[in-house]
This record gives sequence, C-alpha cells and structure tokens, in this order.
Amino acid sequence: MTSKIKKIDDIPPEIREEMMQLYHDLPGIEREYKLIDKIGEGTFSSVYKAKDITGKITKKFASHFWNYGSNYVALKKIYVTSSPQRIYNELNLLYIMTGSSRVAPLCDAKRVRDQVIAVLPYYPHEEFRTFYRDLPIKGIKKYIWELLRALKFVHSKGIIHRDIKPTNFLFNLELGRGVLVDFGLAEAQMDYKSMISSQNDYDNYANTNHDGGYSMRNHEQFCPCIMRNEYSTNSHNQTPPMVTIQNGKVVHLNNVNGVDLTKGYPKNETRRIKRANRAGTRGFRAPEVLMKCGAQTTKIDIWSVGVILLSLLGRRFPMFQSLDDADSLLELCTIFGWKELRKCAALHGLGFEASGLIWDKPNGYPNGLKEFVYDLLNKECTIGTFPEYSVAFETFGFLQQELHDRLSIEPQLPDPKTNMDAVDAYELKKYQEEIWSDHYWCFQVLEQCFEMDPQKRSSAEDLLKTPFFNELNENTYLLDGESTDEDDVVSSSEADLLDKDVLLISE
Ligand code: ADP
Ligand code: MG
Repeated sequence: MTSKIKKIDDIPPEIREEMMQLYHDLPGIEREYKLIDKIGEGTFSSVYKAKDITGKITKKFASHFWNYGSNYVALKKIYVTSSPQRIYNELNLLYIMTGSSRVAPLCDAKRVRDQVIAVLPYYPHEEFRTFYRDLPIKGIKKYIWELLRALKFVHSKGIIHRDIKPTNFLFNLELGRGVLVDFGLAEAQMDYKSMISSQNDYDNYANTNHDGGYSMRNHEQFCPCIMRNEYSTNSHNQTPPMVTIQNGKVVHLNNVNGVDLTKGYPKNETRRIKRANRAGTRGFRAPEVLMKCGAQTTKIDIWSVGVILLSLLGRRFPMFQSLDDADSLLELCTIFGWKELRKCAALHGLGFEASGLIWDKPNGYPNGLKEFVYDLLNKECTIGTFPEYSVAFETFGFLQQELHDRLSIEPQLPDPKTNMDAVDAYELKKYQEEIWSDHYWCFQVLEQCFEMDPQKRSSAEDLLKTPFFNELNENTYLLDGESTDEDDVVSSSEADLLDKDVLLISE
C-alpha cells in the first residue's frame, strides 16, 4: 500500500474513531507518534501508519528504512484477545530477528494494561493482488530472492515463520525490495535429532512400557519421518519401522497389536489423537503440516514460498482455496497424484485413502508442475483473459516449447516477416534466450519447493545458490567467491540490541 498521505477528512470516520481510541488506550503515545492512517488489518492486529515525532526511532534504525530520511513508522496494535503468551512470543521473536534488512525489526513496544503495540519501520509496498499477474520473470526472480534471503536469515536463527504468504512479505516494486513481517505464529524449531540420540535409545524406549525420562510432550513430537536417518545408517540394513504414539507410548506400528495407522480407523478408536502445530494459513500449508507431523522444520516455510511462486507463474491467486486440511490434500492430489501423497503419508506413519474421482489420477499431471502451470495459462489463453501484451505469454511460450515442442530446444526466432534488422534480431534472440533460461531455472526452484519429503526439500540457502539467482548473487559475492551477506546485516551490534530504552515495555 503506497498510499499518498491522506488528509484527515479523507479518512473514514470509523477509522478516525479507532485512531482516537488508540490515543486514549495508550496515554502519552501522542507525544511520540502521530497517527496518520490505518494501513492494514490481519487476524490478530490492526496496523497504522504514524509519524515518529521525536525522530528517535528513525534515527536509531535508519538503515532499516527504505526511504532514508523518512520518519514514518508502523504501529501494530495487537488485539487484546490475543493470549499474553502469543504476544510475548511475537515481540520476543521480532526482537531476536533484529539484524537483517529483509526482516522488520521491533523498534519499540508499548503496553498499557492489556493493550500492546509494536513499533516497526514503515515499509511502502504494493499489494500482491495488484501485480501478481503482471510481474515479468526478472521481477519474479527478485521477489523470490528477497523472500529467500529473509528466510535464510530467519532459519539461521532456528526459527520457523509458519505463515509465509504475500500479506506477510511486503514488496516494493520500484525499489525491488522486500521485507518479512508478522512473527505472530513463528516458533523455534525443536532439535528432534537430539531427542532421539541413538537407535538403541530409541529401540529401548519404544519396546518398554515406561516413560524413561521423556515427557508426554516429547511423545507427541516423534514422527516416523525423523527416524529415517537413524535407520538408513544402520549396517543391518533394516527397513525403517512405522512409528506412532499409542496410549502415550511410542510404538512400532508393524508389530504392536496389529494397530496400523496406514489401514484406516477402527470404529472404537482408543489411540491418542495425533497432535501437531497446524498454525498457518490455508492454501500455504506444507503436506507435513496437513498430515500433523510432529517434527516440523523450517522447510514448511519453503513449501509456502513454492505456493507464492506458483501463483506468480500461473497468474492465479489464491492458488489453493480449500476450506479444510482434507480438501487441501485432495487439491495436492490433483497436481501430484495420489501415489505421491500416499508415499508422503507413509513417511509420517499414516495411510492415505480417498474415494471418488481422484483415484484415476495416480500420478497427477504427467509433466508435473510445468504441465499444471501450462494448463492454468492455457485455459486463460483460450478464453482470452490475458491482455495482448501480458508477460504471461512468455511463460506460456516457454512451457509450450518445453512440453510440446521438445525437439527445438533453442528459443524460437522472431517471425522473419517482421522486417527486423540484424542487430534487432540478435538482441531479440539474446533476450528470448535469457527469458527461456530464467524460466527453465525458475521451474527447477519451484519443483524443489514442492518436494514432498521435507528432508529432501531444499533450504532457503540451497535455493539461493541455484542458477536461477546467479545474476543477483553476483553482486553479493566477493571476488574469491565468498558471500558477504553484507546487505543483509544492518546495524545490530550487541550494544544496540541491548539498549533497553528502545525495547522497554512500559507499564
Ligand atoms: P497480522 O498478524 O494481524 O496478520 P501483520 O503484521 O501481518 O498483522 O500486518 C497486517 C498488514 O499490515 C500487512 O499485511 C501489511 O499490509 C500491513 N503492515 C504490517 N506491518 C507493516 C509495516 N511495517 N509497514 C507497512 N505496512 C505494514
Ligand atoms: Mg499477517
């Protein structure tokens, strides 16, 4: 929302009232911040643009502000209905995250009774809806690169964001810059591996009927998907056991009372229900979240990056629209086929059954995501919803060539009927080659984001190293090939971070 500053009369009366209420709820705030407009509303908060009257924040966090010299901040009013734990979690994580120019830092926080506001730099940005259909491949590259750079930083701190989606990644088209906001659902990733220190420990544990020092909470965090490495390094070449939690105990599925989660549910179910954090936004949840994996990692954010990238390439938003998790899995089935989903379910110790039409689609789209995007674009081309100059035709052309004209790997030359001189023809060919290669590598990134197995899914760091981002990485590499990450790191010296006068939450 890069709104021009509105005159007070242009602001709807109900918003003006809300702003007056905020002044009332946080007495004294008017000496530091002048509310200008309401700029956002999420599930848990309202966000206002405000002027930093004293200039203290804008000076201290100057390197975070996109428009140097601007003194606008965003005040995020967290709804009083949010639990104190949730509010603490969000503020604390924002505080830890100070240090990257692509992650919004917590500049200040205020609390009076149950009313809490977080102060962040104000980032002028465009709404995703306004540009997702028109972003050329170079723009898509920059958008995803900025997002992955932000995630690389967040993940390096061991934090899962959990709610990666366009409204939480503010992107400015003109500057080509993006910033990650909203750590309301974020959490630290557990160290699952150290919880199961060795196969022996695990076997002893699974085969005895006592808690052996593990807490009940730990039981819920076991998922067969984290056991694979233990077993794959095993010299006896054993197959990994199916594991689940039964009456609070971790058990091997294939030898305990014939109980097998992969075979559907008996009528009088006595087992503990599989529990896992499912926080996030529908349509952006990774399959392991949908399948209630108890060992979720930062890779769930990478899946969500894939969903955004799919929207940008397929020119469709929102991409997935199902109302619940079961529906979401069926949506994935239509793309990837039920065989993939069944394999994925087995990874998490579950079965996967569905009746009806999808069973005739065992393998999904024959050429995977490329064909799926082609299908989306083709439908629009047929009904003529893209304007003549749409950049979607570049993607469509690439896919047509890739999927249906495999013999000519070379990008097609311009039509000779257009009397083009040799220089123009050369330039055009060069341009087309670049667009073709960008698309080729972009689809590789897409496929890696949608790897069903979280352990095989690439990390943000890995994706940034793929050829798709070569031209952007070149600027950030030293001559000897070492990445400086210089532009990621902003003034975040220990002293800065410990300066409590900025972060003090007033009573
Ligand atoms: P919620 O937790 O309620 O989803 P967010 O932190 O995601 O709240 O903010 C909601 C919206 O407010 C965002 O989608 C964005 O449009 C706007 N917003 C949030 N922070 C800023 C900021 N620092 N600068 C500009 N706009 C912001
Ligand atoms: Mg949000």
